[in-house]
Amino acid sequence: MNPLQKVLVADDDPTNRAVLAELLKPEYTVLLAKDGTQALERAARHVPDLVLLDVMMPDLDGFEVLRRLRADPRTADIAVIFVSGLGRPEDEAQGLKLGAADYIAKPFNATVVMARVALHLQMVRQRRMLEHLAHVDGLTELANRRRFDEVFAAEFVRARKRATPLSVALLDIDAFKQYNDHYGHPAGDRALRAVARTAAACVRRPGDLAARYGGEELVLLMPEADAGVARAVVDRVRDALDRLAIGHEASPVAPVLTVSAGGATLLPGEDTTALFAAADAHLYRAKQAGRNRVVWRSAP
Ligand SMILES: [Mg+2]
Repeated sequence: MNPLQKVLVADDDPTNRAVLAELLKPEYTVLLAKDGTQALERAARHVPDLVLLDVMMPDLDGFEVLRRLRADPRTADIAVIFVSGLGRPEDEAQGLKLGAADYIAKPFNATVVMARVALHLQMVRQRRMLEHLAHVDGLTELANRRRFDEVFAAEFVRARKRATPLSVALLDIDAFKQYNDHYGHPAGDRALRAVARTAAACVRRPGDLAARYGGEELVLLMPEADAGVARAVVDRVRDALDRLAIGHEASPVAPVLTVSAGGATLLPGEDTTALFAAADAHLYRAKQAGRNRVVWRSAP
Protein backbone atom coordinates (compact mmCIF):
# COMPACT_ATOMS: atom_id res chain seq x y z
CA MET A 1 0.00 0.00 0.00
CA ASN A 2 1.32 3.40 -0.99
CA PRO A 3 0.50 5.99 1.64
CA LEU A 4 -1.17 9.05 0.17
CA GLN A 5 1.19 11.81 -0.86
CA LYS A 6 0.93 14.97 1.25
CA VAL A 7 0.01 18.34 -0.21
CA LEU A 8 0.18 21.54 1.82
CA VAL A 9 -2.15 24.34 0.68
CA ALA A 10 -1.00 27.75 1.90
CA ASP A 11 -3.39 30.57 1.14
CA ASP A 12 -4.70 33.45 3.27
CA ASP A 13 -8.09 33.31 1.54
CA PRO A 14 -10.35 30.80 3.33
CA THR A 15 -12.43 30.21 0.19
CA ASN A 16 -9.37 29.33 -1.90
CA ARG A 17 -8.14 27.02 0.85
CA ALA A 18 -11.49 25.26 1.05
CA VAL A 19 -11.85 24.88 -2.71
CA LEU A 20 -8.33 23.47 -3.13
CA ALA A 21 -8.76 21.19 -0.13
CA GLU A 22 -12.02 19.79 -1.54
CA LEU A 23 -10.36 19.18 -4.89
CA LEU A 24 -7.31 17.44 -3.49
CA LYS A 25 -8.80 15.50 -0.57
CA PRO A 26 -10.01 12.46 -2.52
CA GLU A 27 -6.48 11.70 -3.73
CA TYR A 28 -4.03 13.21 -1.28
CA THR A 29 -3.50 13.96 2.37
CA VAL A 30 -4.19 17.69 2.54
CA LEU A 31 -2.61 20.07 5.05
CA LEU A 32 -3.68 23.69 5.32
CA ALA A 33 -1.88 26.90 6.27
CA LYS A 34 -3.50 30.32 6.48
CA ASP A 35 -0.35 32.41 6.17
CA GLY A 36 3.35 32.23 5.39
CA THR A 37 4.48 31.60 8.94
CA GLN A 38 2.08 28.71 9.35
CA ALA A 39 3.15 27.37 5.95
CA LEU A 40 6.80 27.24 7.05
CA GLU A 41 5.92 25.66 10.37
CA ARG A 42 3.70 22.96 8.79
CA ALA A 43 6.22 22.29 6.02
CA ALA A 44 9.01 21.72 8.55
CA ARG A 45 6.81 19.52 10.74
CA HIS A 46 5.06 17.39 8.11
CA VAL A 47 7.50 17.60 5.16
CA PRO A 48 4.78 17.48 2.48
CA ASP A 49 5.53 16.19 -1.01
CA LEU A 50 4.19 19.36 -2.59
CA VAL A 51 3.17 22.86 -1.51
CA LEU A 52 0.52 24.89 -3.32
CA LEU A 53 1.65 28.34 -2.33
CA ASP A 54 -0.28 31.58 -2.63
CA VAL A 55 1.95 34.55 -3.49
CA MET A 56 0.00 37.39 -1.87
CA MET A 57 -0.24 36.72 1.85
CA PRO A 58 -0.28 39.29 4.66
CA ASP A 59 2.75 38.28 6.73
CA LEU A 60 5.32 36.56 4.53
CA ASP A 61 4.58 36.53 0.83
CA GLY A 62 4.90 33.30 -1.14
CA PHE A 63 8.26 34.26 -2.64
CA GLU A 64 9.73 34.76 0.83
CA VAL A 65 8.18 31.50 2.03
CA LEU A 66 9.84 29.67 -0.87
CA ARG A 67 13.22 31.29 -0.09
CA ARG A 68 12.96 30.14 3.53
CA LEU A 69 11.85 26.63 2.54
CA ARG A 70 14.93 26.35 0.34
CA ALA A 71 17.20 27.64 3.12
CA ASP A 72 16.10 24.93 5.59
CA PRO A 73 17.63 21.50 4.89
CA ARG A 74 14.46 19.80 6.15
CA THR A 75 12.29 21.52 3.53
CA ALA A 76 14.81 22.44 0.82
CA ASP A 77 13.69 19.72 -1.60
CA ILE A 78 9.92 20.12 -1.30
CA ALA A 79 8.26 20.84 -4.65
CA VAL A 80 6.35 24.14 -4.73
CA ILE A 81 3.68 25.33 -7.13
CA PHE A 82 2.70 28.97 -6.90
CA VAL A 83 -0.99 29.72 -7.17
CA SER A 84 -1.24 33.41 -7.70
CA GLY A 85 -3.47 36.28 -8.69
CA LEU A 86 -0.32 38.01 -9.90
CA GLY A 87 -0.67 37.03 -13.50
CA ARG A 88 2.16 39.08 -14.98
CA PRO A 89 4.90 37.16 -16.78
CA GLU A 90 7.56 38.78 -14.57
CA ASP A 91 5.86 37.41 -11.45
CA GLU A 92 5.72 33.94 -12.95
CA ALA A 93 9.38 34.26 -13.99
CA GLN A 94 10.39 35.33 -10.48
CA GLY A 95 8.59 32.36 -8.96
CA LEU A 96 10.26 29.90 -11.32
CA LYS A 97 13.65 31.55 -10.81
CA LEU A 98 13.30 31.01 -7.07
CA GLY A 99 12.90 27.32 -7.77
CA ALA A 100 9.14 26.80 -7.98
CA ALA A 101 8.16 23.76 -10.02
CA ASP A 102 5.21 25.54 -11.62
CA TYR A 103 3.03 28.64 -11.55
CA ILE A 104 -0.75 28.56 -11.76
CA ALA A 105 -2.69 31.81 -12.27
CA LYS A 106 -5.85 32.63 -10.32
CA PRO A 107 -8.67 32.22 -10.94
CA PHE A 108 -7.59 28.66 -11.42
CA ASN A 109 -9.27 25.87 -13.30
CA ALA A 110 -9.85 22.79 -11.16
CA THR A 111 -8.91 20.29 -13.86
CA VAL A 112 -5.67 22.11 -14.63
CA VAL A 113 -4.74 22.31 -10.95
CA MET A 114 -5.34 18.59 -10.49
CA ALA A 115 -3.39 17.70 -13.64
CA ARG A 116 -0.40 19.79 -12.64
CA VAL A 117 -0.44 18.55 -9.07
CA ALA A 118 -0.53 14.96 -10.34
CA LEU A 119 2.32 15.62 -12.77
CA HIS A 120 4.58 17.19 -10.15
CA LEU A 121 3.83 14.53 -7.58
CA GLN A 122 4.73 11.89 -10.15
CA MET A 123 8.05 13.68 -10.67
CA VAL A 124 8.58 13.75 -6.90
CA ARG A 125 8.03 9.97 -6.77
CA GLN A 126 10.43 9.38 -9.63
CA ARG A 127 13.10 11.59 -8.08
CA ARG A 128 12.74 9.78 -4.74
CA MET A 129 13.09 6.43 -6.46
CA LEU A 130 16.27 7.53 -8.22
CA GLU A 131 17.67 8.91 -4.96
CA HIS A 132 16.79 5.65 -3.27
CA LEU A 133 18.55 3.61 -5.97
CA ALA A 134 21.60 5.86 -5.76
CA HIS A 135 21.84 5.35 -2.00
CA VAL A 136 21.00 1.70 -1.55
CA ASP A 137 23.14 -1.37 -2.04
CA GLY A 138 21.31 -3.65 -4.46
CA LEU A 139 22.23 -6.93 -2.82
CA THR A 140 21.69 -6.21 0.86
CA GLU A 141 19.32 -3.24 0.57
CA LEU A 142 21.38 -1.47 3.21
CA ALA A 143 22.68 2.02 2.56
CA ASN A 144 25.62 1.88 0.17
CA ARG A 145 29.09 3.26 0.70
CA ARG A 146 28.29 6.54 -1.01
CA ARG A 147 25.32 7.07 1.32
CA PHE A 148 27.48 6.15 4.30
CA ASP A 149 30.12 8.71 3.28
CA GLU A 150 27.48 11.45 3.01
CA VAL A 151 25.84 10.66 6.34
CA PHE A 152 29.19 10.20 8.06
CA ALA A 153 30.33 13.66 6.92
CA ALA A 154 27.07 15.26 8.10
CA GLU A 155 27.03 13.44 11.44
CA PHE A 156 30.66 14.35 12.03
CA VAL A 157 29.83 18.05 11.63
CA ARG A 158 26.86 17.68 13.99
CA ALA A 159 28.89 15.80 16.60
CA ARG A 160 31.58 18.48 16.53
CA LYS A 161 29.10 21.32 16.77
CA ARG A 162 27.12 19.77 19.63
CA ALA A 163 30.09 18.13 21.32
CA THR A 164 28.28 14.76 21.28
CA PRO A 165 29.93 11.37 20.77
CA LEU A 166 30.06 9.62 17.40
CA SER A 167 30.98 5.97 17.00
CA VAL A 168 31.86 3.85 13.98
CA ALA A 169 32.08 0.07 13.84
CA LEU A 170 33.26 -2.10 10.95
CA LEU A 171 31.97 -5.65 10.74
CA ASP A 172 33.52 -8.30 8.57
CA ILE A 173 32.07 -11.77 8.04
CA ASP A 174 34.63 -14.35 9.12
CA ALA A 175 35.84 -16.84 6.52
CA PHE A 176 33.39 -15.59 3.93
CA LYS A 177 35.55 -16.74 1.03
CA GLN A 178 35.44 -20.27 2.45
CA TYR A 179 31.67 -19.92 2.83
CA ASN A 180 31.29 -19.02 -0.86
CA ASP A 181 33.70 -21.77 -1.90
CA HIS A 182 31.89 -24.35 0.20
CA TYR A 183 28.23 -23.40 -0.29
CA GLY A 184 28.35 -21.46 -3.59
CA HIS A 185 27.84 -17.79 -4.35
CA PRO A 186 24.02 -17.75 -4.26
CA ALA A 187 24.19 -19.11 -0.70
CA GLY A 188 26.91 -16.56 0.06
CA ASP A 189 24.62 -13.77 -1.13
CA ARG A 190 21.82 -15.08 1.06
CA ALA A 191 24.11 -15.23 4.07
CA LEU A 192 25.32 -11.70 3.44
CA ARG A 193 21.73 -10.49 3.21
CA ALA A 194 20.89 -12.24 6.46
CA VAL A 195 23.83 -10.58 8.22
CA ALA A 196 22.80 -7.22 6.74
CA ARG A 197 19.21 -7.61 7.95
CA THR A 198 20.43 -8.61 11.38
CA ALA A 199 22.72 -5.59 11.61
CA ALA A 200 19.98 -3.25 10.39
CA ALA A 201 17.56 -4.62 12.98
CA CYS A 202 20.06 -3.90 15.76
CA VAL A 203 20.79 -0.26 14.93
CA ARG A 204 17.49 1.38 15.55
CA ARG A 205 18.17 4.61 17.39
CA PRO A 206 17.36 7.71 15.34
CA GLY A 207 20.40 8.65 13.28
CA ASP A 208 21.94 5.18 13.40
CA LEU A 209 22.96 3.84 10.02
CA ALA A 210 23.97 0.39 8.83
CA ALA A 211 25.66 0.35 5.43
CA ARG A 212 27.43 -2.12 3.21
CA TYR A 213 30.94 -0.80 2.93
CA GLY A 214 32.10 -3.32 0.35
CA GLY A 215 32.41 -7.07 -0.16
CA GLU A 216 31.40 -8.78 3.08
CA GLU A 217 32.13 -5.68 5.16
CA LEU A 218 29.41 -3.66 6.86
CA VAL A 219 29.76 -0.37 8.68
CA LEU A 220 27.62 0.93 11.53
CA LEU A 221 27.46 4.65 12.18
CA MET A 222 26.15 5.55 15.62
CA PRO A 223 25.71 9.25 16.39
CA GLU A 224 25.40 10.21 20.06
CA ALA A 225 26.63 6.77 21.08
CA ASP A 226 29.68 6.64 23.33
CA ALA A 227 31.98 3.62 23.21
CA GLY A 228 29.89 1.68 25.75
CA VAL A 229 26.59 2.19 23.93
CA ALA A 230 28.10 1.54 20.50
CA ARG A 231 29.90 -1.57 21.61
CA ALA A 232 26.66 -2.89 23.09
CA VAL A 233 25.02 -2.44 19.66
CA VAL A 234 27.76 -4.50 18.02
CA ASP A 235 27.36 -7.18 20.74
CA ARG A 236 23.64 -7.27 19.95
CA VAL A 237 24.41 -7.90 16.28
CA ARG A 238 26.76 -10.73 17.23
CA ASP A 239 24.24 -12.24 19.67
CA ALA A 240 21.49 -12.07 17.05
CA LEU A 241 23.79 -13.80 14.54
CA ASP A 242 24.53 -16.52 17.12
CA ARG A 243 20.81 -17.13 17.47
CA LEU A 244 20.39 -17.18 13.69
CA ALA A 245 23.08 -19.89 13.59
CA ILE A 246 23.81 -19.95 9.88
CA GLY A 247 25.85 -23.12 9.48
CA HIS A 248 29.44 -22.70 8.23
CA GLU A 249 31.14 -26.09 8.00
CA ALA A 250 34.20 -24.66 6.30
CA SER A 251 34.93 -22.01 8.92
CA PRO A 252 38.10 -22.40 10.98
CA VAL A 253 36.49 -20.13 13.60
CA ALA A 254 33.15 -21.70 14.55
CA PRO A 255 30.55 -24.11 13.12
CA VAL A 256 28.32 -21.10 12.37
CA LEU A 257 28.76 -17.82 10.53
CA THR A 258 30.48 -15.23 12.74
CA VAL A 259 31.72 -11.68 12.37
CA SER A 260 34.75 -9.77 13.53
CA ALA A 261 34.29 -6.14 14.42
CA GLY A 262 36.45 -3.13 15.10
CA GLY A 263 35.18 0.11 16.49
CA ALA A 264 36.20 3.56 17.55
CA THR A 265 34.54 6.60 19.09
CA LEU A 266 35.47 10.08 17.93
CA LEU A 267 38.35 11.71 19.76
CA PRO A 268 38.81 15.47 20.16
CA GLY A 269 40.61 16.88 17.13
CA GLU A 270 40.08 13.75 15.06
CA ASP A 271 38.56 13.87 11.55
CA THR A 272 36.40 11.30 9.75
CA THR A 273 39.34 9.72 7.94
CA ALA A 274 41.24 9.11 11.16
CA LEU A 275 38.14 7.83 12.97
CA PHE A 276 37.36 5.40 10.17
CA ALA A 277 41.00 4.28 9.98
CA ALA A 278 40.94 3.59 13.73
CA ALA A 279 37.83 1.41 13.38
CA ASP A 280 39.49 -0.40 10.49
CA ALA A 281 42.73 -0.92 12.45
CA HIS A 282 40.74 -2.42 15.33
CA LEU A 283 38.87 -4.71 12.95
CA TYR A 284 42.28 -5.92 11.82
CA ARG A 285 43.23 -6.53 15.45
CA ALA A 286 40.02 -8.48 16.01
CA LYS A 287 40.93 -10.72 13.08
CA GLN A 288 44.53 -11.10 14.22
CA ALA A 289 43.33 -12.10 17.67
CA GLY A 290 41.41 -15.05 16.21
CA ARG A 291 38.24 -13.47 14.72
CA ASN A 292 34.68 -13.79 16.06
CA ARG A 293 35.17 -10.87 18.46
CA VAL A 294 34.93 -7.10 18.88
CA VAL A 295 37.92 -4.89 19.52
CA TRP A 296 37.15 -1.30 20.38
CA ARG A 297 39.69 1.48 20.57
CA SER A 298 40.19 2.27 24.21
CA ALA A 299 39.73 5.85 25.42
CA PRO A 300 43.01 7.75 25.62
MG1 LIG B 1 -3.53 35.62 -0.99
